[in-house]
Parts: sequence; structure tokens; C-alpha cells
Amino acid sequence: MLLVMKFGGTSMGSAERIRVAARISREQHQRRPVVVVVSAMSKITDLLLDSLRKAEAGDQSDLDQNLKTLYARHFECCRELLPPARQEAALAGIHGLIGEFSRIAKGCLMLNDRPPRSIDEAVAIGERLSALMMAEYLESEGVPAAAVNGADVIATDAVFGNATPLMDATRERAAKILRPLLDQNILPVMTGFNGSTLDGRPTTLGRGGSDFSASIAAAALDASELWIWTDVDGIMTGDPRLVPDARVLDAVTYNEAAELAYNGAKVLHPRTLAPLVERHIPVWSKNSFAPEKPGTRIVPKIESTRGPHAVTSMADVALVSIEPANSVLSGTKVMARALGALARANVEVLAITSSSYRQNFCFLVRQSELERVTEYLEESLSLEFAHGYLKPVSVDCHVGLIAVVGEGMRGTPGLAGRIFTAISREKINIIAIAQGSSELTIAIVVHRDGLNRAVQAIHRECGLGVAN
Ligand code: ADP
Ligand code: ASP
Ligand code: MG
Repeated sequence: MLLVMKFGGTSMGSAERIRVAARISREQHQRRPVVVVVSAMSKITDLLLDSLRKAEAGDQSDLDQNLKTLYARHFECCRELLPPARQEAALAGIHGLIGEFSRIAKGCLMLNDRPPRSIDEAVAIGERLSALMMAEYLESEGVPAAAVNGADVIATDAVFGNATPLMDATRERAAKILRPLLDQNILPVMTGFNGSTLDGRPTTLGRGGSDFSASIAAAALDASELWIWTDVDGIMTGDPRLVPDARVLDAVTYNEAAELAYNGAKVLHPRTLAPLVERHIPVWSKNSFAPEKPGTRIVPKIESTRGPHAVTSMADVALVSIEPANSVLSGTKVMARALGALARANVEVLAITSSSYRQNFCFLVRQSELERVTEYLEESLSLEFAHGYLKPVSVDCHVGLIAVVGEGMRGTPGLAGRIFTAISREKINIIAIAQGSSELTIAIVVHRDGLNRAVQAIHRECGLGVAN
């Protein structure tokens, strides 16, 4: 029965948008128990992170400017949203939260430092501000509601900035914090994005992590559905900013949605589906700007799908190649050592290819992780480099990743050929290709200059813009 709904940054981006989100929440709350998970207002997380960077750099006046913007945006929204009788208390609440943020930022300013734990505590204040406003507004509309800090519900490990939930502890916390509210017919408005370690240190789940918070809450409470409200009509065959004729998909599988998200489709946080798989909880991706549209259903399995479903891309990636200088070393051992180093560096490998175990092998990582990658590789293969068994690690940052995704590609002959031909017709050079034996995704690395054109060419060649 329980429905968990998440509203993203644009869906919470102004008084007008919060009113719509609250209306949707109220409609559902009249029918069944609901938990709402909210993001910070659009661009607020960026502003908070920027403020902390300014603070670390000792840039007091820029920090003050940012704080002013932060106050102005939330005060203005609050005044527009709430009836006069409720404003004083809400404005005091906002003042208190921004005060908390500013104390942490001032601490960074004094120390010329930005400890990861303080970043996580500070940045989650964006979500706490929007949860406060949403709960106040719902109450003012006669819907009993309570703002809940996700840090009190979601238990995580201590990987600050990219924490992983501890599901058993989260279930216990959800039973203690959310269940009693639901039992009293109170609508919990929980912050997305944040959690805390078992000993109470604040963490966050990675950028875009409110989707993940919502799916963690849905799994912890055995919800019957999760609805993710965003600013597009659902999951599309391509990024609508890149592919003008991208089409909304009626349904995709968990696997397809996860592949799309991991390969750059921002519409979902990559780890959103993982907590739901075991309990088969269905997800809907819906547009809060057009709530009457059906959106995309994300389900464990879809009968009879044909060909690819969607194409996505990532630009901020780097291709790292390792090449033996001679045949003295065992290629397998070099690969094992390199992958071990990446695991220790906590780096995610986006794609990996090798044509033969004796030759060059290369893998794709995010540019933001490149420094850690080279540091760990050089450390764990230092002897091989020193003795000249391996050529120096080569890094190509002028590349992009394309992923063509679809369960229906399995066993479809000729598809890869058509995709590669479409790319070469655009005179774009393919640098590397990887396809897992599950045939769910074909990953293609191309020169960055050709990335967008290649995505468009594949979308066209596979007829993704045309409903089948
Ligand atoms: P929210 O703030 O609601 O979480 P996001 O900005 O994180 O929203 O994600 C929604 C955006 O994802 C859309 O506005 C769209 O530009 C982008 N996007 C990228 N790829 C896709 C895709 N395949 N389908 C739908 N949207 C996509
Ligand atoms: N506000 C956070 C971010 O911008 C989390 C989210 O919106 O999902 O990354
Ligand atoms: Mg998002």
C-alpha cells in the first residue's frame, strides 16, 4: 500500500513548484500512506558546495555573497508559499538551518580546510531547508506532515560524499522514525541525499543521491511503489538536451535503467534500483510539470522487447592504457595488479577492453578520479615501470563513452555492425568497444569531438525516436 514519492530539485525549485508537489502529495495521501522525499531547491547544492570551496580558499566576501543568495532564495520562497500566520516560525527555522551552514563554512574558512565529514553535514542543509518548507506548506493546507532528517533514517558506511546504505540498520531506524508517523496518518517529508554512520556522523550518498534515498526508504519500509518526480516525461531514448527527437519510454527493466544511469543518464541516480531488486518494488519516473502523463515504468522484467531501448553518453571520462614493453611479464598478472590497485583506490571502472592478454589493455574511468587512478597504479606497478617491463601509463582525456542499452539486443544479429557503420558514416573514429556477454549494453569509446554526433547517429540508425 505504501507509496514513496521523491521530488527533485526543479520540482522543489520555487514556491509555485512546491505547491504543485504538495498538491500531488496530498492527492495520494488521501488514498494511502505516503512518504515524501525531497531534494534541495534547484542549484542550491551547487551553491552550498561552492560556498565551502570559497571558505577553504579564504574568500570571505564571496562566501558572504553566497550566504546572502541562500537566505534570499529561501526567505523569498517561504514568504510566497506560506500564509502570514505561519511565516514567522518557518523563517526562524530557515534562519536556524542557514546559521548552521554558515557556522560550518566559517570553520572551513578559519582552518583553510574542507573536511569531508563537514562537507556532508553542511551540504545536506539544502535538503533540510526544502523539507522544512514542504512540511510547513502541507500543514498549512491541512495535511498533517512532519519534516524528517534523512540522517536519522538512513544508516550508511563512512565513505563521506558517496556513502552506501546499511540496510538492516536503516530498516530499524525507519521503523522507529517513519513508521510511528505513518501510523498516526502524518505525512513524513524526509530529506533526500543524506544519511549518517552508525555512530551518528553525517554522510551523503553522492550527487543526485535523493533518488537513492527514496529507493532506500521504499525498500526499508516495504513500499508497494516508488514514484520519482522530475522535470521530463520519464526515461527517454536519449538525453533530450542532446537528441531533439528523443522519445519517452513506456517501460524499461531495472537492468536497463541501471545501465542507462551508470552510463550517464542523469534522470536516475545510478544506485537507485539496487535496494528495490530483492523486493521487486516497481518505480515510476514522472514529470511534475505534467503530472497527468503516464511516465516510465521501471520493472524487474518486460516480456518481448526488441533491439536497443536507449542510447546515453558520458563526456568527462578518460581512457587509461597499460602496455607491456616486452613479453617477459604475465599479462594476466599485470591486469590483476592494475585492477587490484583500482579497487583499493575505490575507483569505478566504466569499461574495460583488451584484445589479447599479452597486449595493451585499457579501461575507462571518470576524469574526476584520474589522479587517484594514476597514483595507485604507479604505486602498485612501480617495480615493473622501474625495470622497463611496462611502458609508461598513457591517458587520453579527449574521449567520450557511448552506451547503447536494451535487453532486446541479446541475440540480435547485425546490430553492432549497424551501430558501428552509423558512427563511421559520421567520420568518427572508434577508439575502443566493450560488450558484456549479457549483451545488455554495447559500450563504445570515441573521440570527444564526435561524441554528440555519434549519439545522434546511433539514435537515428536504431530508429529510437519512432515508437514500435
Ligand atoms: P531531478 O532534479 O528531478 O533529480 P535531474 O536533473 O537529476 O532531475 O534529472 C533529470 C534530467 O535528466 C532531465 O532534465 C534530462 O535533461 C536529463 N536526462 C539525461 N538523460 C536522460 C534520459 N535518457 N531520459 C530522460 N532524461 C534524461
Ligand atoms: N541535491 C543533491 C544534488 O544536487 C541531491 C539530489 O538532488 O538528488 O546532488
Ligand atoms: Mg537527479
